[in-house]
Amino acid sequence: MPPTRAEKRIAGGFKPLHAGKVHLFCRGCGRKQSNMERAEYDPSAAAIVDILCPKCSVGTKDPEVFYYDLQGKDIDAARWKKDPASMPGGE
Ligand SMILES: [Zn+2]
Repeated sequence: MPPTRAEKRIAGGFKPLHAGKVHLFCRGCGRKQSNMERAEYDPSAAAIVDILCPKCSVGTKDPEVFYYDLQGKDIDAARWKKDPASMPGGE
């Protein structure tokens, strides 16, 4: 399936991903940071982590985090935690 506009908005504009790193995307302001440190609880299939930047998360307690692959497609983090082997990139 070709990427949707939303997927392109998420996945576009990053530098090539380095091994062991993730890209950060803020859904609040669209800010993008390439090749940031990966957190140990990030699904290993995740290439892009959607988390509110410090500016956009002011006043938000525990902002929700979403994970995407390099094409901007959703990664189901709840399913990942339960059964990583059932997902692409899983052990
Ligand atoms: Zn932001």
